[in-house]
Amino acid sequence: MSLIKSISGIRGTIGGKVDENLTPLDVVKFTSAFGTWLQNNKNKKDLTVVVGRDARISGAMVNSLVTATLQGLGIHVIDLGLSTTPTVEVMVPELNADGGIILTASHNPKQWNALKLLNGKGEFINGEDGAEVLALAENEDFNYAEVDFLGKYEERHDAFDIHIQKILNLPMVDAEAIKAKKFKVVVDAVNSTGGIAIPQLLRELGCNVIKLYCEPNGHFPHNPEPLKEHLGDICELVKKEKADLGIVVDPDVDRLALVDENGELFGEEYTLVAVADYLLRHQKGAAVSNLSSSRALRDVARNLGSEYFASAVGEVNVVTLMKEKNAVIGGEGNGGIIYPDLHYGRDSLVGVALFLTHLAKEDKTVSALRATYPSYFMGKKKIELTPDIDVDSLLTKMQNEYQKEEVSTVDGVKIDFENNWVHLRKSNTEPIIRIYTEAFSQEEADELGEKMIAKIKSLI
Ligand code: MG
Repeated sequence: MSLIKSISGIRGTIGGKVDENLTPLDVVKFTSAFGTWLQNNKNKKDLTVVVGRDARISGAMVNSLVTATLQGLGIHVIDLGLSTTPTVEVMVPELNADGGIILTASHNPKQWNALKLLNGKGEFINGEDGAEVLALAENEDFNYAEVDFLGKYEERHDAFDIHIQKILNLPMVDAEAIKAKKFKVVVDAVNSTGGIAIPQLLRELGCNVIKLYCEPNGHFPHNPEPLKEHLGDICELVKKEKADLGIVVDPDVDRLALVDENGELFGEEYTLVAVADYLLRHQKGAAVSNLSSSRALRDVARNLGSEYFASAVGEVNVVTLMKEKNAVIGGEGNGGIIYPDLHYGRDSLVGVALFLTHLAKEDKTVSALRATYPSYFMGKKKIELTPDIDVDSLLTKMQNEYQKEEVSTVDGVKIDFENNWVHLRKSNTEPIIRIYTEAFSQEEADELGEKMIAKIKSLI
């Protein structure tokens, strides 16, 4: 059981003792802190917050606590009910709201839930703002509204329609080209809200939709993180149905993984690569991902004459760099597509529409499209250290060891060699260095990881 309070929100397991888990009291306290923070920072009286949730079992209970607490502070609530992270992000500015709260523990298993906090632009609040919310929660310095000033409550049921219409209106989404292809598509939404939103979008795009795990009841039929080892069922069904494509999203629909017509994973890293390949052919500007994402994006961008930039890990960092570099596309290798012409947040719906446009225009099978991209393989390892070791100085030593190479210290130490790279990141909670590698083969990626472990040990 656990409760993780961080600048990006509060996340924990349901049940158990206060302050050790995400209990009702913790939910109320944290919501009060966010509402108070909004009131402290806005120079207006009537504030509105948009709330939406994924389909996990605890969602309705947490939603009641959050919406009632906001009303208790005198804040108006627009409740989208079952929604997705990108849908709430789109609806905050759409409804001229002052902030948003998404109730989702993303890809975490069913016992988890979390509050993700959005500012008035529908973007995640930054680290500084998150620290202020945490401090307010710590001090419990809240001032609830008197009876005549309680917040109003309103439900909206048209958020998916609005979100999808905005996607269909994007000049880079060619619905007619997609419709002409009559794609047959299998969808695995792990019984969360992607099971509503993705089929609705696909039907608008003239696809023949086969639903697998699309009942938004929160009973996850497999581990909800869209990784190969959890996706056997959809791979089988795509083959059996002779579908063109399989689509997998996580419970809050900000991560998108694809399956080709042979039932093989397209590779989560390659969702962004394919979408960027399409966009950069038509829109001038840079591409951004984080330091741990595949080099394939850099290769594709450079081939098309575009610049590529890498940010620190974390969606907020990707978005900040995208704004700085005026990027036209960005995201994360975990299947997170950020398309700023719609909004600055990972959005699987826009990812699906852009990918299908690309697929329709290229007139290839999904596996043939995948074969046009450079193939890289990733390795993940870690080295466990003892608490007396100064991890920061160890990382500095590694940086010095490889100073002749291209080294970035934006987030840990990333060393770009000619044919591969390694990214060393320290854990904030344990004496561990995580070692991410990428190379032209799995063997090479794993060997590079081992080589780095040996090098780190030699420097201790
Ligand atoms: Mg997610």
